[in-house]
Amino acid sequence: MTQKINFNGTIEEDPHISVFDHGFLFGDSVYEVIATHNNKPIFLTEHLNRLTNSAKGISLAIPYDQQWFVREVNRTVQIAGNEESYIRIIVTRGVGDIDIDPSSCQNPNVLIYVTPIKEYSPDNYSKGINVALVSIKRNPKEALNPGIKTGNYLNNVLAKMEANKLGAKDALMLSPTGYLTECTTSNIFFVLSGRVLTPSLDCGILRGITRDVVIQLSKENGLPVEEGQWPPETLEKADEIFITGTLKKIMPVTQLDGRSISDGKPGPVTQKLMRLYEKHFKSIDPF
Ligand code: PLP
Repeated sequence: MTQKINFNGTIEEDPHISVFDHGFLFGDSVYEVIATHNNKPIFLTEHLNRLTNSAKGISLAIPYDQQWFVREVNRTVQIAGNEESYIRIIVTRGVGDIDIDPSSCQNPNVLIYVTPIKEYSPDNYSKGINVALVSIKRNPKEALNPGIKTGNYLNNVLAKMEANKLGAKDALMLSPTGYLTECTTSNIFFVLSGRVLTPSLDCGILRGITRDVVIQLSKENGLPVEEGQWPPETLEKADEIFITGTLKKIMPVTQLDGRSISDGKPGPVTQKLMRLYEKHFKSIDPF
């Protein structure tokens, strides 16, 4: 089990980055997290497309093309040789003056971290987790659009700290206008009278790659999906709640603010989607 980090094309175990890199100084960077199956990256194209879009969103010119990333991600994963890997790609603004103006940064840095994957506890999946609706609001999209996956995660860090204090595993945030958005590193879904509901992109959320797959699988399997703007009270009537993300895949939420959802066990729709997602994930032919 090893850790390998690809730093601008050179693979090392613990490379060092300048303290003048604006990624470090200002969170001026974009990133992606990718999971593997049989130690091959899954949904790599989708993650690279989103990385490209995030970089465009902050006017950051990525110095390499997608083929370079495909080659270097696979090479780093192979050299690390783990059973399954956690892959994190980061592109920073690069080294510049200690000044928020990025124009002194000429060379973005590209890092590809590969470490052994840390699995979530099977108990989390069989029993579900407790999520807290926190007072910290998700960044408004007019300020720092949550649709851009930047390295500036302080909004989510603060929400997570509030959840920790409340004894919850994750934090659910509202938009500044009071609608449900997402959790700190996950999208949220809930089931209401057989319909699968999730906040729409215009609520100010990240367009999760897992979210897209869950929407597609629901539709293909006769589960109507509705994306919309939902006030938090809607969750009081929810029969089931689950969250989605690359590493956790589909995680049942069985308590919200300490209150049980239905009978406090993962519901049938959540369990069906967990099975469908697992099957789909394992059937993908990575390149
Ligand atoms: N929302 C936020 C804020 C995230 O950070 C993440 C993933 O890191 C997600 C949602 C889920 O996205 P994905 O399914 O692409 O991992």
